[in-house]
Amino acid sequence: MQTNGSNYDVIIVGAGPGGIFSAYELIKQKPNLKVAVFEAGHSLEKRRCPIDGDKVKSCIKCKTCAIMNGFGGAGAFSDGKYNITNDFGGTLYEHIGKQKAIELMKYVDEINLAYGGEGTKMYSTAGTKFKKLCLQNKLKLLDASVRHLGTDINYVVLANLYAELCKKVDFFFDTPIERLELLDDGYRVHYGSSYADCNRCIVSVGRSGSKWMQSVCEDLSIETKSNRVDIGVRVEIPAVIFSHLTDELYESKIVYRTEKFEDNVRTFCMNPYGIVVNENTNGIVTVNGHSYEDPEHQTENTNFALLVAKHFSEPFKDSNGYGESIARLSNMLGGGVIVQRFGDLVRGRRSNSTRIEEGLVTPTLAATPGDLSLVLPKRVLDGIIEMIYALDKIAPGTANDDTLLYGVEVKFYNMEVDIDDNLETKYKGLYIIGDGSGVTHSLSHASASGVHVARQITSNM
Ligand SMILES: Cc1cc2nc3c(=O)[nH]c(=O)nc-3n(C[C@H](O)[C@H](O)[C@H](O)COP(=O)(O)OP(=O)(O)OC[C@H]3O[C@@H](n4cnc5c(N)ncnc54)[C@H](O)[C@@H]3O)c2cc1C
Repeated sequence: MQTNGSNYDVIIVGAGPGGIFSAYELIKQKPNLKVAVFEAGHSLEKRRCPIDGDKVKSCIKCKTCAIMNGFGGAGAFSDGKYNITNDFGGTLYEHIGKQKAIELMKYVDEINLAYGGEGTKMYSTAGTKFKKLCLQNKLKLLDASVRHLGTDINYVVLANLYAELCKKVDFFFDTPIERLELLDDGYRVHYGSSYADCNRCIVSVGRSGSKWMQSVCEDLSIETKSNRVDIGVRVEIPAVIFSHLTDELYESKIVYRTEKFEDNVRTFCMNPYGIVVNENTNGIVTVNGHSYEDPEHQTENTNFALLVAKHFSEPFKDSNGYGESIARLSNMLGGGVIVQRFGDLVRGRRSNSTRIEEGLVTPTLAATPGDLSLVLPKRVLDGIIEMIYALDKIAPGTANDDTLLYGVEVKFYNMEVDIDDNLETKYKGLYIIGDGSGVTHSLSHASASGVHVARQITSNM
């Protein structure tokens, strides 16, 4: 579709949760608004990762990654863990206040239920006995309520939302915006040889759009800062080892302070009865995980990440570059993701396929047996080993020899963009939201940021 000269009230760049919930709320508040969404990736039904475990076993680095890009954004095939909390998942509350942030997350949760998520379970840490057990073992359990939609129901919710939105919103898929231009009275987005204009622009390009976001900020002299990256591994164990925790809490966010370096190591993205998957960020293959609500798709394993946060100080500014280099090293040695038994890691030897096949844990991802100590910095590796032993006290068996560690898992943080409490840049009507702003790192915070900005825009019209 050509849009040269088309005028919209609002253009949204990116159709991840941030973009989707901006569009939803704009149309809800003002049904006659002219809204367009430009998305670099495919429409939902065309999103298909070519890895089938048979003909295509590992990442072939598609032009746009079906896992990260397209309607639904990075979250489309995620486990759909919708965390309602200010304790993690972003710092939206620093802009809009804690109460408002929780209200908006609950509002989005209600929409998810209305669009196909009804009947899914909400878990909560309130009143759990595990808080005490964790504290007794130098671990801290963070507070949260988590709705587990599951990869399958998450997809249904997205399909239903799209069916509703496309009646009123113009969607342009496979249309990456190349340039954002300031006009006297609005903004112009350029793609290919075409462009479209708008009065207000919401940029919600997520993690995969981080490099583009950086170039926009440079062009428009919007200040940014970037000083954090989280590095670690994905742990895979028999689900029964963690079932007392996952049955009650589904996802437990646990933090451990290491004795050696006083670094914080934390569990992240826990997938009971789930699978470990590849993730491709700008051509670098890292590891992630998800699980399904439907018992037919469940496995006998649980996986979760153990991550160590690395904060850098001046003069180093490229924290994501540091994380990328470590991930590249694992790709260089293993051709992709490396897997190692915990027992092999502590004995200082590379894993091989025979020892993995003979082990108690059947891997859910075909990764290259290797040696993570050749990839991860010592400080990170020591922290992970310490935490595995700490977790073994609340979930005996975590430190078994056959526990599988996949590496590397890197959590890249988008640079933080200079925006005000309304998530508006120094340019009136230009909003930067979701993970691309550096303010959010989760489905719930990203979605809530979209609702917040849509309400700002419509209330000022
Ligand atoms: C495998 C996986 C599992 C996850 N599981 C969970 C989970 O269970 N719970 C949770 O809270 N979070 C999870 N996350 C994180 C969550 O998906 C993100 O925090 C969330 O999607 C951020 O939403 P967003 O809208 O800000 O960005 P995104 O979802 O990244 O969407 C941004 C969109 O913008 C598009 N885009 C980028 N650049 C351009 C451009 N120049 N022009 C046009 N379009 C562009 C991209 O293609 C993308 O579709 C997971 C992430 C992954 C990768």
